[in-house]
Amino acid sequence: MKIELTGRQEQIIDIVKNSGPITGEQIAEKLSLTRATLRPDLAILTMSGFLDARPRVGYFYTGKTGSQLLTEKVKQITVQEYQSIPVVVNQSSSVYDAICTMFLEDVGTLFVVDEYSTLIGVLSRKDLLRTSLGKQDLEAVPVSIIMTRMPNITVCQKDDLIIDVAQKLIDKQIDALPVVKEVDRGTKVEVIGRLTKTNITKVLVDLAYDELI
Ligand code: ADP
Repeated sequence: MKIELTGRQEQIIDIVKNSGPITGEQIAEKLSLTRATLRPDLAILTMSGFLDARPRVGYFYTGKTGSQLLTEKVKQITVQEYQSIPVVVNQSSSVYDAICTMFLEDVGTLFVVDEYSTLIGVLSRKDLLRTSLGKQDLEAVPVSIIMTRMPNITVCQKDDLIIDVAQKLIDKQIDALPVVKEVDRGTKVEVIGRLTKTNITKVLVDLAYDELI
């Protein structure tokens, strides 16, 4: 991906590439501009990682390409910055109730919890659809018998990297991961969020529209 720079910013990079380390004053001179006029451009170029500045030395070129800088940026994004609110149902809920919750809350994945909010299962659209194909009374079937259950649930934590979660979604061919917090010295987990393919799509859009990558 290419990071859009202005013509003047490109010129500054060329000057620093060829003559760095170089002071802001000297760059301004070469461009016949004032130091004050250049200040915003130099700030953008250092913040975005193209240039680095050392006190009493000046600016120098980091040698990083736009895509290297983008990769660095992507690898800093954590789950907590993009997670959604989890939608949960109790393990004693019926499949019928779970279907209603899925429609009302407009989500594709429900998490099943016990009375202490401990995560015990996951329900996807197809889990519910599959059960609906049978002749059973959906109000009489508890979700606990059709859900995917612990310990087979792929989870993530709020400090995990988004890129690692994206990899898990691909590897496991699933749409969402519960964001969990360990409780009872790690013997159980509580659901505190939801990380879906939609959240990952939002990361992509934010990166594309962020002028200052
Ligand atoms: P869909 O059923 O709509 O294709 P998924 O691809 O997310 O949705 O789910 C496929 C299967 O994987 C379902 O049986 C579901 O219970 C299970 N599943 C969904 N999310 C997880 C998860 N985080 N960990 C383990 N299994 C999951």
